[in-house]
Amino acid sequence: MRERLQDSVWYKTAPAAPETESLESDIDTEVCVIGAGYTGLSAGIHIAELGGDVVVVEAEEAGFGGSGRNSGHCTPTFHSFELEQFRRMIGEPFGSRMVQMQCDSANFLFELVRKYRIECDAIQSGYVEPAHSKKAFLAQEKKVAEYNALGKNTRLLNISETEELTGSPRYFGGWFHPEGGNLNPLAYCRGLVRTLMGLGGRIYTATPAVEITRVGSRWRVKTPKGQVMADKVICASGAYSAPSYWPGMEKTYVMLNIVGMATQPLPREMLERILPHKNTVLETRHDPASFRLDRDGRLVTSMMLEGRRGGDEGYTKELLTARFRWLLPQLTELRWEHYWHGRLDMQPRLFPRLFGLAPGVAAVNGYSGRGVATGTMMGKVLANWATGIPRDELAVPLEPLRNAPRLMKAAMRIMLPYLRFVDQRAAKRDGLNPPLY
Ligand SMILES: Cc1cc2nc3c(=O)[nH]c(=O)nc-3n(C[C@H](O)[C@H](O)[C@H](O)COP(=O)(O)OP(=O)(O)OC[C@H]3O[C@@H](n4cnc5c(N)ncnc54)[C@H](O)[C@@H]3O)c2cc1C
Repeated sequence: MRERLQDSVWYKTAPAAPETESLESDIDTEVCVIGAGYTGLSAGIHIAELGGDVVVVEAEEAGFGGSGRNSGHCTPTFHSFELEQFRRMIGEPFGSRMVQMQCDSANFLFELVRKYRIECDAIQSGYVEPAHSKKAFLAQEKKVAEYNALGKNTRLLNISETEELTGSPRYFGGWFHPEGGNLNPLAYCRGLVRTLMGLGGRIYTATPAVEITRVGSRWRVKTPKGQVMADKVICASGAYSAPSYWPGMEKTYVMLNIVGMATQPLPREMLERILPHKNTVLETRHDPASFRLDRDGRLVTSMMLEGRRGGDEGYTKELLTARFRWLLPQLTELRWEHYWHGRLDMQPRLFPRLFGLAPGVAAVNGYSGRGVATGTMMGKVLANWATGIPRDELAVPLEPLRNAPRLMKAAMRIMLPYLRFVDQRAAKRDGLNPPLY
């Protein structure tokens, strides 16, 4: 499968990357970060803000992983779990801390963007979660109660408000969260690089970490033409951790392929009716359509790859054309001009895990498709760890390395068509007949 970053719409619309070089010598630092996505760069920035010395090594270019090719939704929510359910699953005190962290993550990201004036078309216009069935709409009442109990100002949308915000007459109402938003993901990532460099952090691109070894109480991160000696190492290579530079790292998550797509810039008359306030949208379905507009009015979406869907470009474009024409009937002109692939790192609880690999070495993965705001926030958690905050005071528990369940990928493959059937049946029961997706 082609995984060229250049295929993504963001490669066309993001400002150029800051100039960087590859590592060709032996250097020393306090903290070495592996991977220049949101997690690694945010960790680097927050370490540098505290006066720490930090070096980031990146195998390709900053944003080469999910951070340069995602859809740019910043969503401070849990899609598949109620907050109470999630707290119970994790246990206290970490359950409540993680809920708070995730719920504050979009504000945290937009504050960072404002503080460092990162040019990335960031817009905190709100998140809309439209309900695909009456039952899904009823369940959203609990979301309002749970999130508002944390001081948020979310609300239910009736059918016409949902249509006004999304442009779609196909929903039974929805949930609105004003703290969500969207941005140009590659521009954001490159802006984080500039910020890191401005704070004195060093970054080396085209510099893969090939091995981490202990040297006394310190660590050596070996790269093809040099090495970084560090007191601490943060492994932030996400879904792109194979080939592995730490034994077993690639088994700690399940990798899923995902396809991103963007249309031509839509004509003005369509933009007046589709997402007129540039909200960010993710449906309540288990296999949801997500959509947003970019700066130039392109409709951007992504979906999990499954058989011909995502693998066969022509077929996938037809499928999405039918889906979006149904969702947004005013989309009379629709050309998918950008089509690219990426990977997701999945964890069963659909939330990242923090692994302590050895004293002084930590890794994180498992964003499960929610890494823009969450990755930025996790970078801060890692910076806290690296600068000596005790593990029982971190927002996320530091766990020993553990493999993701072996059958998780197969289970997801089996469950997805079933859940799609359930969603389809619910929509039909409520009088709708959406094209298969
Ligand atoms: C198509 C798509 C759409 C998505 N949409 C959304 C969305 O709308 N909202 C959302 O919140 N999330 C979304 N996601 C998920 C999100 O992009 C990721 O969760 C997030 O970018 C992960 O960030 P990260 O920093 O952990 O990892 P990454 O951004 O993947 O960065 C890891 C980096 O590590 C580097 N690396 C790997 N191995 C090495 C090595 N040995 N040495 C040095 N460097 C190495 C890689 O080259 C890469 O640059 C989407 C993902 C995809 C693919």
